[in-house]
Amino acid sequence: MRIEVESLTEAGRPVESVHEPGRLDLEDEQVRLVSPARLEGRARRKGEEVRLSGKITAELEIDCDRCLTPTRAPLEVEFDTSFISSEVAAGAPENVELLAEDMGLAAYEGGEVDLDELVREQILLALPTRRLCREECRGLCPHCGADLNAGDCSCERGEVDPRWAALADLKKDEKT
Ligand SMILES: [Zn+2]
Ligand SMILES: [Zn+2]
Repeated sequence: MRIEVESLTEAGRPVESVHEPGRLDLEDEQVRLVSPARLEGRARRKGEEVRLSGKITAELEIDCDRCLTPTRAPLEVEFDTSFISSEVAAGAPENVELLAEDMGLAAYEGGEVDLDELVREQILLALPTRRLCREECRGLCPHCGADLNAGDCSCERGEVDPRWAALADLKKDEKT
């Protein structure tokens, strides 16, 4: 869904949109929407600058970094983002363009703000950096691929916790 910038005023108006899982590509293979994401907020305009603030709610399915098991995660993000016209941004001297980037201003094109883009960005920003099904997830056996949360596999184990394996590799590199 898009908002026509021309239609906005300084006083603003409420904005609501629904983003169906099949239509919103999160561009992250580990993350999927399991129900429509909803945006509720307010859109205001001051000259060429559009400000959108409000709340996005979504239900996600995130694959665990260690064992790949998908886990459901409800998400609620508050946002407050300003947009400037890409034509204005492109015409601005380079230092103004950089300043706009510094201030976290996004750009809109063709006189319309793309809400799909906003929702995608806000969801990705709100994701945890460590995506684990649970804190103590044991992950997969590096040899046979068995899910170690379900029990030990029959592989010989060097008794190296997978969490320390990366560290051990680093030490090895230091020696050589
Ligand atoms: Zn896991
Ligand atoms: Zn194994």
